[in-house]
Amino acid sequence: MQIPQANKRFNFDKYPNFDKDIDPKQRAWIEVNGEAIEKNVRQLRSKLGKSCQFMAVVKADGYGHDAKLVSDYAVKGGASELGVATLKEGIKLRSSGVKKPILILGNLYTKKDLMIAFKNDLLPTISSLRECLICNNIGKQFGLKFSLHLKVDTGMSRLGFESDKFIQEFEKIKSFENISIEGIYSHLSSADEDNSLDPKSSTQLQRLKFRELLKQINVDNNHNIKIHLANSAGMLLSKDFHFHMVRVGLSMYGYSPLAKIDKNLLLKPALFLKVKVAFIRTIDKGVGVSYGGKFVTCRKTKLAILSIGYADGVPRNLSGKINVIYNNKLYPQVGSITMDQMMVDITGSTEIRIGSTMVLLGSDGDKTISPLEWAIKSNTIPWEILCSFKNRLPRVQVD
Ligand SMILES: *Cc1c(COP(=O)(O)O)cnc(C)c1O
Repeated sequence: MQIPQANKRFNFDKYPNFDKDIDPKQRAWIEVNGEAIEKNVRQLRSKLGKSCQFMAVVKADGYGHDAKLVSDYAVKGGASELGVATLKEGIKLRSSGVKKPILILGNLYTKKDLMIAFKNDLLPTISSLRECLICNNIGKQFGLKFSLHLKVDTGMSRLGFESDKFIQEFEKIKSFENISIEGIYSHLSSADEDNSLDPKSSTQLQRLKFRELLKQINVDNNHNIKIHLANSAGMLLSKDFHFHMVRVGLSMYGYSPLAKIDKNLLLKPALFLKVKVAFIRTIDKGVGVSYGGKFVTCRKTKLAILSIGYADGVPRNLSGKINVIYNNKLYPQVGSITMDQMMVDITGSTEIRIGSTMVLLGSDGDKTISPLEWAIKSNTIPWEILCSFKNRLPRVQVD
């Protein structure tokens, strides 16, 4: 006998669109507080000199927060420029209606890519004479000037002109008629290390090298060219790193990259990671939980099954090391985190039900779990935790 398929047996016409709008909070999601971003930017800007500008770094989809949302609130808070990593990130932001200058922090090296950047009014980062020449040719082709930022390497050994050739090459670049140098910058490699205020630290040496180069090409007082060096850590270290602009990511999202933090700086995390309890079961003492059965109960145990796993961006190596908050109480996660689900020991709780919302990151009552804590426990850095969250988690704006 053939069993009729459900969609053949029932006439769903009686229930139009009932399946069209799946609740973004149906399973697991990220809540983003735009006003926290705005406040953080405002507060960070209050540490800058009057004429120093703030570039909001929104690469990797705004460190997982949603680049467009972050950009809008950062601009409200006073950010005057935006930084992205890729051409696509830049185009997406531009076509979503963002009007501020957008700098691509990654490298574009083909004529086609640079042409696309030019067409979309995106500023490329230029690290060589070769790329500079391509930009000049594009500008010439359109009878315009191609706006760009030059980058010089002062110790990161990533992108940028080699510092000892830069002065010579800059002389050539100055003669290019179809480019407009909007900025010159460098990037710090170790500003978040404890010794960064020590005059002999690599951070201070990078700063001195950068200043020396600027002096030699005689642009340190030329305000038509924006000079910038600092990331979040550099910005928080000292005014010496500010120049004409700072490029801030992590601290704008509410986390300090420095161990020693200015007590007057009250950064507010903008991200909450929340999840629904999908199922509840009670198991006996001596029973294994999850793959490998490595966690074995030592008492009769009530488990909440949460709809989130490593395919959502929760590092699997946090298995058994984290807590989850419900109604101002912490509950331990137990057993291996699986691809799509994880288990939490809620023994003793009568208030947690199927459909209850638990908090993995963020605050609830006086309990807070920070990505910094996850980073330490999974042996990585908070930047990686934030940008690991997958598109499977809807981003929901809250105030
Ligand atoms: C990512 C990035 C930043 C921002 O760094 P944070 O430490 O998150 O503030 C600044 N500049 C460049 C070139 C970057 O790639």
